[in-house]
Amino acid sequence: MSDRLTTEQIERYSRQIMVPDLGGKTQMRLCRSRVLVIGAGGLGSPAALYLAAAGIGTLGIVDADKVELSNLQRQILHATADIGRPKVESAKATLTKLNPDVEVKTHPVRFDASNAEQIAAGFDFIVDGSDNFDTKFLVNDVAVKLGIPFSHAGIVRLQGQVMTVVPGRSACYRCLFKTPPPPEEILNCQASGILGAVAGTIGTIQATEAVKYLAGFDDGLLTDRLLVYDAKNLRFREVEVRRDPQCAACGAGAPSFIEPG
Ligand SMILES: [Zn+2]
Repeated sequence: MSDRLTTEQIERYSRQIMVPDLGGKTQMRLCRSRVLVIGAGGLGSPAALYLAAAGIGTLGIVDADKVELSNLQRQILHATADIGRPKVESAKATLTKLNPDVEVKTHPVRFDASNAEQIAAGFDFIVDGSDNFDTKFLVNDVAVKLGIPFSHAGIVRLQGQVMTVVPGRSACYRCLFKTPPPPEEILNCQASGILGAVAGTIGTIQATEAVKYLAGFDDGLLTDRLLVYDAKNLRFREVEVRRDPQCAACGAGAPSFIEPG
């Protein structure tokens, strides 16, 4: 990567370079950045599309599934012709078509305890677009351990929630929810449904947070507060989240404790 934007890059990214809080230097920083997107589904699709469009240098995509007809109502990385294809392949094709400058690294596996650290290492930011609590807690714990900021999100029916975690600086997901809920309390998309546009709104907020973090915004990130979206009544509210000194992931007794800084 050269230390100048090409004429083509300046034109491609001109509308965000014009934004006073971003600019050309930030664009170069974005072009050198690496973001890992976990799940090429309802959240990962809009997030990855906007990150690729914004010129993030490297996008890692983790997903073990194949595209199914019932995915297409919300998983906008994939099209009808992709049914049966691994989601990471379909995602890579779509993102490369949108922006050939972006290097897309595919991981056609389930993000689990055996591979999580190895996959996540070296990324600057993680977008958690997973659809189950075990993975959400794993993403949190691995990201905190490796010191990688990430965006947590969850969606169901006409509701969404999203929060940014900067390890060592803000509350983590486990500070808020100590452990995964019992299975009988879990509403998930497969069992409960989801409006595609709700996934789009929340995934797009995740991409926005990734860009803001990578651009060096110190203030204004969605940290220490959970944003809750009620699409039925079109209301957003915030829940304040405090760092828990006893948190099993980021508290003073945790193996991956980072001094607040
Ligand atoms: Zn914590």
